[in-house]
Amino acid sequence: MIVLPLKLPISALQCMALLRRLPKNHPMRPKIEKDLRAWLKGYYGEKEFSYYLSFLPEDQYYIFHGLRLKDKKAFQMDVLIVSQAFALIAEVKNISRRLIFNKETNHVTKEFNNEEEGIPNPILQVKRQRMQFINWLEKVQMKGLPIERLVVISKTSTLVETTPDNQQIFKELIYAESSIDKLQELEEKYEKPRFSKKKLTQLVNLLLTHHQPLIPDILQTYNISKDEIKTGVICPKDHISTMTYYSGSWHCLSCHFSSKTAHHPAVDDYFLLLGPTITRKQLAEFLHIGSTYIAGNMLRALGLPLTGAKRGTTYFLPQNYEFIQPDETDIKLPVHTFPVK
Ligand SMILES: [Zn+2]
Repeated sequence: MIVLPLKLPISALQCMALLRRLPKNHPMRPKIEKDLRAWLKGYYGEKEFSYYLSFLPEDQYYIFHGLRLKDKKAFQMDVLIVSQAFALIAEVKNISRRLIFNKETNHVTKEFNNEEEGIPNPILQVKRQRMQFINWLEKVQMKGLPIERLVVISKTSTLVETTPDNQQIFKELIYAESSIDKLQELEEKYEKPRFSKKKLTQLVNLLLTHHQPLIPDILQTYNISKDEIKTGVICPKDHISTMTYYSGSWHCLSCHFSSKTAHHPAVDDYFLLLGPTITRKQLAEFLHIGSTYIAGNMLRALGLPLTGAKRGTTYFLPQNYEFIQPDETDIKLPVHTFPVK
């Protein structure tokens, strides 16, 4: 069963929010668009893999997508599968043409459109994650489960190449297509359950409570200042107009769409771009509403945790906040621009 479902990575949501809210001619746009394409590619690769995982028996395997834990340093696993007999960490790679492993240097190169680009070695990445996961399990007193690791290449059209003396890498990576076979192989290798059903449930709950998603400081990443971010509620219908709030609803004066909840994505954008805390005044300014009283009501309605009282109240983003996921058609839309005021 899927414990942590696959979602768009937060960095992709941040790039989308930036592209919505940066001026059309902003010099960072090409870089952000390129990065967004890379995040989406990774996401689609994982989606491909998760399709094959959906054939696994529900009651035997627990699947986590994007689980992020803290050992000494934080580490994030593309996919973690746990059962009573073993656990498997998978690093998923979605590469268009060729993936070349160099034995001497341990370097990995990907080739696309006749251009070569070095990428972090996924085998070493997943090896490191395995070490960190083993340490983490020891710390929470959950030792005893064999931990396997794997690099999963999402497309069968990706050519994986290396020198004849480096063929052992093919034991450490598979195409997504053969994931079920691989898991059956592991089932045979680890026939005997190491954890009771009860202990496995305990582990699953521990993993969930220790999951710490990271929201990177994206403005710093792209060297963008706060006042370059366009504020306001974007019309969900035409994607370009700013909405006006009156009589308890948001109204688009160009396409006449109205909605009571159009500010929800704007609140997400605020948290994605500007930081994990917000006051009534900050929200009122961001949404272009004159009243901090209404802003306060909106924040309360969102059920966000808070500290302080009255004017000093600060609301903050809970650890496992669910950002609104754009639906697939929205992801494919040409990246739209928010109008310059
Ligand atoms: Zn509109």
